[in-house]
Amino acid sequence: MKCFYHPDQALHAPPTFLLRGQLAPSPEGPMRAELLTQGLAKVGLALVAPGASDSPQLRKRLARIHTPRYLTFLETIHARWQALPNAAALVAPNIHPCGGGHHYPRHPIGQAGWHLHDMACPLSATSFQGALASAATAEAAAEAVLAGETVTYALCRPPGHHAGPERAGGFCLLNNSALAATVLRERFARVAIIDVDLHHGNGTQDIFYARDDVWTGSLHADPSDFYPFFWGGPDEEGSDDGVGANVNLPLPVGSDGEVYLDALAILIDHLQRFEPDAVVVALGLDAHKSDPLAGLNVETEAFIEVGKRLAALSLPMVIVQEGGYPTEHLSANLAAFMEGFNA
Ligand SMILES: [Zn+2]
Repeated sequence: MKCFYHPDQALHAPPTFLLRGQLAPSPEGPMRAELLTQGLAKVGLALVAPGASDSPQLRKRLARIHTPRYLTFLETIHARWQALPNAAALVAPNIHPCGGGHHYPRHPIGQAGWHLHDMACPLSATSFQGALASAATAEAAAEAVLAGETVTYALCRPPGHHAGPERAGGFCLLNNSALAATVLRERFARVAIIDVDLHHGNGTQDIFYARDDVWTGSLHADPSDFYPFFWGGPDEEGSDDGVGANVNLPLPVGSDGEVYLDALAILIDHLQRFEPDAVVVALGLDAHKSDPLAGLNVETEAFIEVGKRLAALSLPMVIVQEGGYPTEHLSANLAAFMEGFNA
């Protein structure tokens, strides 16, 4: 399996985020890439770097999943923020358009509140470059499938599945899984994104909600009790052309590997009924019982089974890294998935 990673991802490394009202060390940093790389090494997989972290082609593809003003915001906000009196080094809003908002503001504080949906997305001067490198990694993995590889893996961080058409959230700036699906759509008529991360993939759902050519399915801790709270219910089935092409399987917080794998079987069943020509796996490993984000109680062994069942689909596939945070088990969890996948 060809595995991709662009080292410029390390340019996004915010030291802190807001947790329960206090600044806390961010679990989403370059350390994750190191641990995930070690996990790949355990099963004999090595990483190659995509040629460039930015290109006109990448920008064009990103514009199919994100709005122009959101992309402009990400690229320009830090410099505009720094021009404000007494501005902090990281962009972090103090107001959000709860309930929606009707007026798109010109001011940097208003735009930060509009686009940064929560307080887990502080932006530095080089955050956008880091996010582009993460997106370029997913793009390269998908292009390799278009070029004839059966399955590829993209080590992407920051992750992407909480990033919607014009909003960042949950450590995610650009939606890498949605981008991979967009590249696959250039060849394949029907693409499915199956999200096994601890959290609901709300950004991915929003991007494809009204489309019937990209199916989205997610199993996750129940949003009634867990992030992202406002999306991820079983009644969210898509809109317009997309009705029936979105499946959510919320699980009680604290569920173990057995419950998680039962839900995976149901989700795979839905996916197969869609009859996709290619698949994107949004591979979060944060459902593990020792993950610091602490929502589910899945054991390392379950990831072997996840890998086996996804490999059994026997479809062209891009595996995109989503969540999974630093613990002594993170490397082993990725190794377990790969071991199962390549069994
Ligand atoms: Zn997650």
